[in-house]
Amino acid sequence: MKGVFVVGAGPAGIFASRQIALAGYEVSLFNRDIKPGGLAEYGIYPLKEKMKAGLRKQFAQVLEMPNVHYFGHVQVGAAYDLTIDELEAMHPAAIVFACGAQGTRKLGLPGEDAKGVYAAKDFVYHYNQLPPYAAMDFSTGRRIAIVGVGNVAIDIARWLLEDSPDRQAENVLVIARRGPLEIKFDEKEIEFVERHMSRDELTGELLRVSQRCARCNQDVSPEKIFERHFLHLRNADFATIPPRLSFRFLSSPTAILPDANGRIAALEVAENNLILKDDGGTAAVPTPERVAIAVDTLIFAIGDRHDAKIGLPMGPEGYATEPNPERPREPHFEIWNPETRCTIRGHYVVGWARQASTGLVGIARHDAEVGAAKAIEFVRNAPECDTLAAPEILAWLEGDGLRPITKTDLALLARAEEREAQVRHLASFKFSDNGTMYKAIAAERARMFAPRVEECRLSAV
Ligand SMILES: Cc1cc2nc3c(=O)[nH]c(=O)nc-3n(C[C@H](O)[C@H](O)[C@H](O)COP(=O)(O)OP(=O)(O)OC[C@H]3O[C@@H](n4cnc5c(N)ncnc54)[C@H](O)[C@@H]3O)c2cc1C
Repeated sequence: MKGVFVVGAGPAGIFASRQIALAGYEVSLFNRDIKPGGLAEYGIYPLKEKMKAGLRKQFAQVLEMPNVHYFGHVQVGAAYDLTIDELEAMHPAAIVFACGAQGTRKLGLPGEDAKGVYAAKDFVYHYNQLPPYAAMDFSTGRRIAIVGVGNVAIDIARWLLEDSPDRQAENVLVIARRGPLEIKFDEKEIEFVERHMSRDELTGELLRVSQRCARCNQDVSPEKIFERHFLHLRNADFATIPPRLSFRFLSSPTAILPDANGRIAALEVAENNLILKDDGGTAAVPTPERVAIAVDTLIFAIGDRHDAKIGLPMGPEGYATEPNPERPREPHFEIWNPETRCTIRGHYVVGWARQASTGLVGIARHDAEVGAAKAIEFVRNAPECDTLAAPEILAWLEGDGLRPITKTDLALLARAEEREAQVRHLASFKFSDNGTMYKAIAAERARMFAPRVEECRLSAV
């Protein structure tokens, strides 16, 4: 039997599995987390319930396919539960890596290990209740800096300003290396927090950087920037509510200054100049001028990296695939070792594992489907390989001391969470630690079989 293994059950892994299962192959899906969904479950903003529910439904439909088998809470990688060599020993016809971008990107600044300094992904994992991040200390204070001007930065600002149950923010400052014309967030994301901004303050900031931007022919007049990014600020009667959301442009972090308790007390930034590049883009160039900004929390929202501990060859944007100098824009999905300059036949990479922090769920899905088509073509032409069947894989993993979560376990867990939501009078409920999830699954299983024991007792009398 030719079976295909997929590593990672985020959107990319699930939609790749669907494609491969539809082509008629058995798919074994290995996932680090107990639950499937990846960042769709544990990254997308908690209040985007409709979007999350829609995605959960689609993921459940894929997992219901009879030739898709799920092994949750199994982390693949040289430094983890199951190595790639061990996976290979189960004779898959191909392996598709869809494990996302699990490494964090900070800047390597002095003081970066201070308390209160976080990577965005870890922080969103925390507030979306992914174990073990849910139980870790991600305390935030009154003055918070977020480095980066993408949608993730604005999601985090929204959480800090509006929805965090223990919020105490007085000011959230978003820091950008370049100017206001290089803002990356979408209009509909900033809309959630625009009412925390001040027209006068943003006007002052735009005037502060306007000359430096003008040297690159950039017009950053308030009218232009309000029109482009801050539609509500355009209105003269705009009213600001606390806490405050501010922006600081043309600023690159250079050092983190901790207090006596080891918590960040200030962030030092360099004032940047903006220069025009040959390709028409701009680059930020730090000047010797430094400014210290008093903050007690700092969050880097500058994208993530692929995880080096998995043991796949690392490329600049994701796991390495063969470069094609003639068609640099054409995506490659087969993994390639830059040292040996050889393709690793039958190993594919899709989604954020191929291009870290790139695109929304729809883009990850498309990438996965195109990559899965390549894998299917490879498998079709590959010789018979006797891939282990799902029960054999389960036995192998349990023999290794792992406690893989199966599709049946997921159904029991969903039932336990529904029950918990009812008891707590909530619309939905999500367990936030692995131990509790295992216990809930066991309790639900016991509950399911208890009536049958009762039936037997009754029929015996
Ligand atoms: C804060 C934030 C907010 C976002 N908001 C939106 C939004 O509103 N709308 C939208 O469309 N998109 C949003 N996105 C983007 C969206 O989440 C991504 O496009 C998508 O999740 C990428 O899918 P993926 O499967 O490639 O990676 P991921 O979603 O990261 O999935 C990776 C999967 O691999 C598993 N895994 C990791 N390492 C291993 C391992 N070693 N072994 C086994 N399994 C492993 C993980 O458990 C996970 O299930 C957001 C992203 C972030 C970070």
